[in-house]
Amino acid sequence: MDALNKLAEYFSKFPGIGPRQADRFVFSLLRRNANFRKELSDLILHLSDDVSQCTDCFRYFSHGNVPVKVCSTCRLTTRDTESLMIVEKDADFENIEKSGVYHGRYFILGGTIPVLEKDPASRIRINQLMSRIETDNSIKEVILALSVTPQGEQTHTYTSLQIKPICENKGIKITSLGRGVSTGTELEYVDSDTIANALSNRH
Ligand SMILES: [Zn+2]
Repeated sequence: MDALNKLAEYFSKFPGIGPRQADRFVFSLLRRNANFRKELSDLILHLSDDVSQCTDCFRYFSHGNVPVKVCSTCRLTTRDTESLMIVEKDADFENIEKSGVYHGRYFILGGTIPVLEKDPASRIRINQLMSRIETDNSIKEVILALSVTPQGEQTHTYTSLQIKPICENKGIKITSLGRGVSTGTELEYVDSDTIANALSNRH
């Protein structure tokens, strides 16, 4: 396979990118100067040197020169430690943070569960979530903030069933985002007003 096709094949592995868009990326790169391509490839090459995965919420974060295990959001002592919001992916976290309406902690599940999945536990960080709820005694409410898609709903059902016994045992309330987020929408694309509404109407 030649370099053009090989690069296009790499781009087509990204979420939401089809073969035609992948080709456009390749041709766009060809039109840029060599410095642009060098800087981009250096950033990709050294991405993991500068990025850690938080041991508390499991999101990826840039730690700069000093490697730390816990991200700035989890470290911030001014945040509300009583609520834990469960989201599917890092992009959902970013979008909710951007809205500025939520001030508690997060947990990133790292995926969703397809409707007919036989081994749901292999798709999301359910064991890590359960041990987080088990060991963190400040949590009073777990907010399930998942996309209104078939996979999101499947993930919602499975996750709430799994965490229910521990939550009941510890007197933790399980809530879900309220109406407002339209069907078929991924949380990363929902606007701030809708997030604010869905959060205040959680049930
Ligand atoms: Zn964190």
